[in-house]
Amino acid sequence: MHIAFIGLGNMGGPMALNLHKAGYSVRGFDLSKPACDKLAAEGLVIAPSATEAAQGAAVVISMLPASPHVEALYLGDGRQPGLLAALSAGTLVIDSSTIAAATSRKVAEAAAARQIDFIDAPVSGGTGGAIAGTLTFMVGGEAAALERARPLLEKMGSNIFHAGAVGAGQTAKICNNMLLGILMAGTSEAIALGVANGLDPKVLSEIMRRSSGGNWALEKYNPWPGVMENAPASKGYAGGFGTDLMLKDLGLAQENATAVKAATPLGGLVRGLYAAHSLAGYGAQDFSSIVKLVHKG
Ligand code: NAD
Repeated sequence: MHIAFIGLGNMGGPMALNLHKAGYSVRGFDLSKPACDKLAAEGLVIAPSATEAAQGAAVVISMLPASPHVEALYLGDGRQPGLLAALSAGTLVIDSSTIAAATSRKVAEAAAARQIDFIDAPVSGGTGGAIAGTLTFMVGGEAAALERARPLLEKMGSNIFHAGAVGAGQTAKICNNMLLGILMAGTSEAIALGVANGLDPKVLSEIMRRSSGGNWALEKYNPWPGVMENAPASKGYAGGFGTDLMLKDLGLAQENATAVKAATPLGGLVRGLYAAHSLAGYGAQDFSSIVKLVHKG
């Protein structure tokens, strides 16, 4: 079986490699040449375009930044036809990007009209989870389509949840990321308070990790430089999950909250914090650099 993998960035690159290492025939494509070169050096076959990557593919997987990229890829951008037009009936499309649920539903509808199965399958677990193949997948779509996808998802992740109909995976993902944004900002603030009082950030982090303030940021992704060797904070906030991607997810959460009249006061506040942080020039740095709002560094 041949798989096309579109979008070989911080997440898509290691996910595609895990499928390749599991013995699948994977053809990858990314608009960025450095991203393609990096994956080619690790043994992945790179196609010259998304359409060529998808030629004869039984499954197409995409891992792109945001809604406009996914919509343009599958439905076209007014200048070029979308990829759906080039796929045969019976193809399975798995979109793992974090995008608006409404966009997932729009693409799924166009896919269904061509007898193409579509699931939204956004992920959690960060670049570490993508490399280790331990991602959590939150799937929206028909149960039968998920069962088709499951063997592949199991090569890239260790938790696979069926959240509901198409778009439900995206809704679960923005709830999770709204909480993550709040936890990362709160964790940064708490460590900064301790350090301002002379505490060692490593000792304080360990105390809180094992206390009632314990959370994923303290467990796996400490925002303070030098506390966790492999966290982006200890690598100049390079790689990881970009501030602008977190800002996009917090925006999606607020749009959704507005649509259903949900009260998300902390989500709104933290979106404002990440927007200010991005405006200050940190959009491309990992989202844990939000600590710079409360610490001079
Ligand atoms: P990234 O910016 O590192 O990678 C995205 C890649 O898509 C880039 O290499 C870009 O060149 C490529 N691309 C854009 N448009 C394209 C197109 N039309 N055709 C081919 N390639 C195209 O982003 P990422 O960190 O890998 O994140 C991807 C998605 O996963 C985002 O929606 C993000 O919110 C989500 N996500 C990221 C993380 C993380 O920790 N980085 C975790 C969970 C979810």
